[in-house]
Amino acid sequence: MPGVHPEILIVGAGVVGLTTALKLAERGVSVTLLDRQLVGREASWAGAGMLPPGNPANAVTPEARLRSYSHGLWPEFAADLADRTGIDTGYHICGAIEVCSLDEQVEFRQHDSQWQAEGIRVDRISAHEIQHHVADMDARFENAIFLPDFAQVRNPRYLKALKAACLQSGVEIMEHVHALDVRQKDDRISEVRVGARTLQFDRICFAVGAWSASLLQPLGFSIPVKPVRGQIVQLQLPAQPFRCVIELGRRYLVPRRDGLILIGSTEEDAGFAKHTTTKGVAGLLEFAKSLVPSLAHAEVVHTWAGLRPGSPDELPLLGPVPGFSNVFIGAGHFRSGLQMSPATGTILADLMLGEPPPISLDGLDADRFSSQSAAPRAGC
Ligand SMILES: Cc1cc2nc3c(=O)[nH]c(=O)nc-3n(C[C@H](O)[C@H](O)[C@H](O)COP(=O)(O)OP(=O)(O)OC[C@H]3O[C@@H](n4cnc5c(N)ncnc54)[C@H](O)[C@@H]3O)c2cc1C
Repeated sequence: MPGVHPEILIVGAGVVGLTTALKLAERGVSVTLLDRQLVGREASWAGAGMLPPGNPANAVTPEARLRSYSHGLWPEFAADLADRTGIDTGYHICGAIEVCSLDEQVEFRQHDSQWQAEGIRVDRISAHEIQHHVADMDARFENAIFLPDFAQVRNPRYLKALKAACLQSGVEIMEHVHALDVRQKDDRISEVRVGARTLQFDRICFAVGAWSASLLQPLGFSIPVKPVRGQIVQLQLPAQPFRCVIELGRRYLVPRRDGLILIGSTEEDAGFAKHTTTKGVAGLLEFAKSLVPSLAHAEVVHTWAGLRPGSPDELPLLGPVPGFSNVFIGAGHFRSGLQMSPATGTILADLMLGEPPPISLDGLDADRFSSQSAAPRAGC
């Protein structure tokens, strides 16, 4: 659509909706972003904010391509958000130690090899070097790998900065918008009724995370994205006891610079029940103690749960929705939506403006699970 700036509606204001809205608005597109509650209160708020590294030169899998592209964007994106909004997102490179238990040695070596194959900086470290990074680390860990380029972000602050940048760039944000009366005509959706107002647009993007299936099913598009609950326990210490993230399998400790530590996380099939459980919290506390015994004395200040948008291959679905000419989706980022958000926003903005995406989207396309997506229903 050369020379014409289409009007775009984005439904869902988590990191995917916000970054996409911002990237479009920066190009002069008129964007409306709506959410049924306040901006950024779901998975994007609940996440731990870990940002694993990547290397585009050796990224061969769809996951590695998206992660690597996003890794390259993060430093400038975070600095730019801070300049424009005055909000420090807490983005910084903190490094990460990956340790393994005795029964996970094989998986651990495979993981180590994957990092090496991608050409990502990774140091094999001894028990003595582990203690150098984390003085109170349990002595049973005799070796580990250290990823110096691993970063983190304070996601509630990141969301605040994204919202502020969107507003500065002219995005219209509508919060607490419940009623979505979607008007479909042939292969297009070009009107959505919101209360007494009818929004008209050229293109629409659904960025509704774990709720994607319920919104897209009535349009005839079956999408296998489902909620995967993750619980987190937050500890407060007087000062930061160690600087780097510590990972053991799929669980981790994330130290913030002000002495907070996040212990994460569970992976549960609990539908849309977004609450913590006694068992989940106790398991996370036990996990933290088993890694760093001195954390047994830390004060628990907060616990919460969030719903990750999980897809069968744990990768997002990005791009046009099959059967429609003006409908797009960005969902299914599972455990990596914060890390992948700068890349996702850029890619979705490119696609909606009819421009080629900066990386290959093979393996990330929206219809890879549905060779037989139902035909769109008229007038839903
Ligand atoms: C415990 C936990 C830890 C995590 N840790 C990390 C991490 O360390 N690093 C990382 O990269 N990722 C992490 N993640 C994953 C990451 O948080 C998600 O992948 C990401 O936030 C998904 O973003 P989203 O915008 O797709 O979804 P969401 O943030 O869930 O946003 C979807 C939005 O859509 C809105 N919505 C839903 N239905 C409607 C409707 N009908 N109408 C209007 N709006 C609607 C919701 O209100 C919500 O605001 C973690 C997630 C959890 C739960």
